[in-house]
Amino acid sequence: FNVPDPVNEPVLNYGPRSVERAALKAALDEARAQQIDIPMYIGGQEVRTGKTLEVRPPHDHKHVLGTYHEGDASHVHASIEAALGAKEQWENMPWEQRAAIFLKAADLLAGPYRAKINAATMLGQSKNAYQAEIDAACEFIDFLRFNVHFMTQIYAEQPVSGKGIWNRLEQRPLEGFVFAITPFNFTAIAGNLCAAPALMGNVVVWKPAPTQIYAANVIMEVFIEAGLPAGVINMISVDGPVAGDIIFSHPDFAGLHFTGSTHVFQNLWKTIGNNIHLYRTYPRIVGETGGKDFVLAHPSADADVVNVALIRGAFEYQGQKCSAASRAYIPQSLWPAVKEKLQRDIAGIKVGPVEDFENFVNAVITEASFDRLAKYIDEAKANPEVEIITGGSYDKSVGYFVEPTIIQVQDPYYVTMCEELFGPVLTVYVYEDSQFEEVMNIIDKTSPYALTGSILSQDRYAITQATQRLRNAAGNFYVNDKPTGAVVGQQPFGGARGSGTNDKAGSMLNLLRWTSPRTIKETF
Ligand code: GLU
Repeated sequence: FNVPDPVNEPVLNYGPRSVERAALKAALDEARAQQIDIPMYIGGQEVRTGKTLEVRPPHDHKHVLGTYHEGDASHVHASIEAALGAKEQWENMPWEQRAAIFLKAADLLAGPYRAKINAATMLGQSKNAYQAEIDAACEFIDFLRFNVHFMTQIYAEQPVSGKGIWNRLEQRPLEGFVFAITPFNFTAIAGNLCAAPALMGNVVVWKPAPTQIYAANVIMEVFIEAGLPAGVINMISVDGPVAGDIIFSHPDFAGLHFTGSTHVFQNLWKTIGNNIHLYRTYPRIVGETGGKDFVLAHPSADADVVNVALIRGAFEYQGQKCSAASRAYIPQSLWPAVKEKLQRDIAGIKVGPVEDFENFVNAVITEASFDRLAKYIDEAKANPEVEIITGGSYDKSVGYFVEPTIIQVQDPYYVTMCEELFGPVLTVYVYEDSQFEEVMNIIDKTSPYALTGSILSQDRYAITQATQRLRNAAGNFYVNDKPTGAVVGQQPFGGARGSGTNDKAGSMLNLLRWTSPRTIKETF
């Protein structure tokens, strides 16, 4: 398999006076100066229904970036038909040709579309330049390039043959279409949830989160410019239940590729279960859902490492990563030093719009999210057993801004220690140094999720203990690092329990879900 060896896309530096910053600023200015009209993409056609909804930056909700068109049941039917209509040609296309399309898409993202997709992610999803770069540029590019590499590894896997017998394994696409439901928080995830099944020869109906539609539109532009044939990936904006009713009762529904909330995923799974007799084939169900990710510091930990892991883990992208550090367990002996560093550094964090590159924290995604976070913060303020260590204020007059907030609790089962908040709110429980083992038991049983977690320690025995005791508490476990920022090809990403089916995005394991192998035995 003569494909280029994948290398992780380098993260560009958008420092003051850099050419990268100048290009990105130009793309931001250009985007803000116009109002675009985002269609649905069905069977290679741009579809506009006239029933439009507005797109606004979460950090500047009076500004209109553009509109998108909402479809109805007829568009869901049309997208399924378009996908099934494209299927035969797409799955019979030599794999090199499919690979070439996605490798070209990666190159377009790395070059001419880099500033555009980063600017769209910054404005539409309120991500700062660095967070957009590691997502919409680097991670998305990495997914596309590494997927090709993983595909060749899967195709290379062949059974043993013997004298007079030749056994072969043929990788076939699924018999039907894949439905991709994608989240607001990562442009790369939105792109990959479509691209991974498509690379393996599948056709896709894609429903992006309305809160990510602005960058989703750029993803479609890139795929089209890269040469993706009409109908292979169809992007629709249709109310979830309307789309679900039609898709999940279609005999050719063959797979769900989902990232979003645990609650929604469980309901979709139930629907699929109830309809199982309708389908031609058992559908593949792949989902990455919630997280309540922990940072456990051992008394031997370096206070500076704890400080950085907490600030970056909890507050980058406003804590809106499934992997975000949202509960921390800090030993008594370390807490005064850690608390002082957190208060000092968080006081210097700038909160504001993405257009000012000095802002580390931007807006949370929607008013509903803002209101939910404000409620948790107000409840904490009103509780005499809970102390606000940093932040605690919020303001939605211009954008949905919530200050980086740390809550210290005395009860390790306090609500914000257990529930996923998806915002810049970290809860800290300070434990007695001698209670390290007990605190690991609490960590393991507190959360119904098991996505990411960190152990911070300079003591090898403690690292070993935590790695073993917390074996099932996280699908991505970090030693002396923040629990966010998994890199494609380096840290395959995903968790079990309420966090998902753990099919590891950014690895061969995910691609294996989008193929249905056939064994051929030939005797001579
Ligand atoms: N892969 C991302 C990370 O490691 C998180 C993905 C998500 O939020 O769904 O931080």
